[in-house]
Amino acid sequence: MSDDILALDAKHVWHPFTQAATAAPALHAVRGQGAVIETADGKQYVDLVSSWWVNLHGHANPVIARAVAEQAGTLEQAIFAEFTHAPAARLAAKICAQLPGDLDRVFYSDDGSTAVEVAMKMARQYWGNMGQDRRVYVGFDGGYHGDTVGAMSLGRTSGYFGAWESMLFPVEIAPFPHTWDGDDTIEAREAAALADFDAILDRNQGQIAAIIIEPLIQGAAGMRLCRPEYLRAVAERAKAAGTLLILDEVMTGFGRTGAVFACQKAGITPDMICLSKGLTGGFLPMAMTVTRDFIYQAFLGQDVSRAFLHGHSYTANPLGCAAGLASLELLLGAECQARIQAIEAVHRARLDRMAGLAAVSKPRLCGTMAAFDLPNGEAGAKLKLIFRERGLLLRPMGNVLYLLPPYCMNDGALHQAWDIIEDEVSKISGADPCCASRKSSGPWMTNSVIP
Ligand SMILES: *Cc1c(COP(=O)(O)O)cnc(C)c1O
Repeated sequence: MSDDILALDAKHVWHPFTQAATAAPALHAVRGQGAVIETADGKQYVDLVSSWWVNLHGHANPVIARAVAEQAGTLEQAIFAEFTHAPAARLAAKICAQLPGDLDRVFYSDDGSTAVEVAMKMARQYWGNMGQDRRVYVGFDGGYHGDTVGAMSLGRTSGYFGAWESMLFPVEIAPFPHTWDGDDTIEAREAAALADFDAILDRNQGQIAAIIIEPLIQGAAGMRLCRPEYLRAVAERAKAAGTLLILDEVMTGFGRTGAVFACQKAGITPDMICLSKGLTGGFLPMAMTVTRDFIYQAFLGQDVSRAFLHGHSYTANPLGCAAGLASLELLLGAECQARIQAIEAVHRARLDRMAGLAAVSKPRLCGTMAAFDLPNGEAGAKLKLIFRERGLLLRPMGNVLYLLPPYCMNDGALHQAWDIIEDEVSKISGADPCCASRKSSGPWMTNSVIP
């Protein structure tokens, strides 16, 4: 019945981040197992992007599937302004136990965008409750935080939001000095970036509600890495300036950088942290904004207007929480931790080989995420279709090709994928006029670049 589904889809469904007039037709997925998604025509696709960075333990993972099914037969939803339940309380406690410092209070929401929106609203009201009217947010060049208006405003330099420019509110944008293997310019660029960052802090003294950054990896900006040194310097300065530091770990969380959370790897403790994507292992949309205790305390009082009057219909959905608990247990297990290390080792070896190819520049690696630049976006778009033909699901962002596989992927399968990538990328000569003539316009400043 594959044709029927595709026809119904073509007639009635509107796909995200897709120009339907020119995109290759959607694939009709019928089942998933491990890193593989199978389509109705019997083809198999290796999901090297973890289905938009959400999947940790493979598709239809039986442990998580069982946890969700059991929860669905017990309690599917209960209004969270009145009730609590075991999955929500336990998941909050387990996440807090993994986080540094007194990041001890969880506010649940639905997706990465809402986790960021909640953090931004909380920061503003925190200062209001403290008797200060602080209106400035500081974001970072190229940063992406989601598609709601606050998150878009913060991510206004990501290049994705041209159509809504007039809706966005002003924010301060600090530099994000990105780096790669063998980059010998980073220390100078980092120093210049910090000088700019200091200037922003200086001219907004007492006005900054929060500083918000994607720690270690800017995802949608094209898998751009910064050094932990820069992150630590930003964190120290945020503290010295007396403002709040929010880490958007929607992509970096849950093992992507090698550590469970990027803040641990960088050795910093933010005031708030936003989590989603990997939170449920890719089973259900759910998010959380975790705050330090003093922020929660500032919302207490006899007056209801001091409270955080924000919520979503499905807040702390029990199925999502059950999936989150099962996924976290798998993630913390020895087997998964070993896979994360192994994936990084395979990436390292293969990236080092790729670095010798004419079409490859700026190879970079952080945990289970490996990336490099192609000569231009056309090469990326062309390769995407070729990889699809060869059974690999990859989605180059402009001229950036990256891998972000589920942790269940074994070394053999990962090497096979890299073999195909190496084979195809080696056919692109760096000097090929089709590919080298136009320099990419740099960090994602076109709306044709989609994550
Ligand atoms: C994907 C992403 C978001 C938005 O999450 P959604 O679930 O798509 O709303 C926010 N921040 C970062 C860093 C992301 O990668």
